[in-house]
Amino acid sequence: MGNFHYLPQKRPFIWERKAWGASDPTGYLYPLGTVEQITIHHTVSAAKPPFEEVKSVQRYHMQKEPDPFFDIGYHFLVDRAASIDGRDIYEGRQRQSNGVLSQGAHVAGRNQGNIGVAVLGNYEDEPFSEGQRRVLVDLLAWLCYLYSVPFSEIRAHRDFSPTSCPGRHLYTELDGIRQELVDRLVAREGPPDRTVNIVVNGQPLNLEPQAVLVNGTAVAPVRPLAEAQGAHVRWNASTRTVYLDSNGK
Ligand SMILES: [Zn+2]
Repeated sequence: MGNFHYLPQKRPFIWERKAWGASDPTGYLYPLGTVEQITIHHTVSAAKPPFEEVKSVQRYHMQKEPDPFFDIGYHFLVDRAASIDGRDIYEGRQRQSNGVLSQGAHVAGRNQGNIGVAVLGNYEDEPFSEGQRRVLVDLLAWLCYLYSVPFSEIRAHRDFSPTSCPGRHLYTELDGIRQELVDRLVAREGPPDRTVNIVVNGQPLNLEPQAVLVNGTAVAPVRPLAEAQGAHVRWNASTRTVYLDSNGK
């Protein structure tokens, strides 16, 4: 997609499946395919110590009737609070043996190329905290950078399906989060800085206008430069000539 690139983003700390005691998938997981979007969810799970809560979400997905999932449906989960040493992201669905993401199960009919990020909790009822927002932005920044996902493709579950997911308190944060991602990932294009610093006998000169680089050559106003060297400067307008006399005349 697109002819854009983002500034590199650091991978946040992510608890691996074995850390939270994930069960193995019960069937074949397809590869995710080209990543086109990221969909945000809330889990509406009962609060438990973090590893246990992630495990309970997996159990719930794998015991769904009549169509149990082969594994937890989401790719990443974000904790309720900065609870374990500020490490609040969990790996969800098992990856392919070569490390690429597997197709998830989080938006009916729209799972191909769609990364599922779920926040533990119920944000229809509970406020979404500043700490959670910070963790979510770290995760999204890294994912957008890694997979070149346009900010407009950070979606909410309710954009696709008749559901309140990810809850109104989280849903209303998404525009601000997209803006924060723009600020973080997009390089500001300004005029390139071509100014040149001039130092005479160890003294930096404040030149007006400033010296600039033109095709590899430093170009500076003559008068302040010559006077800094102790030269007398005369200008003959009719012949357009600058006279530099170092004898002080
Ligand atoms: Zn959802």
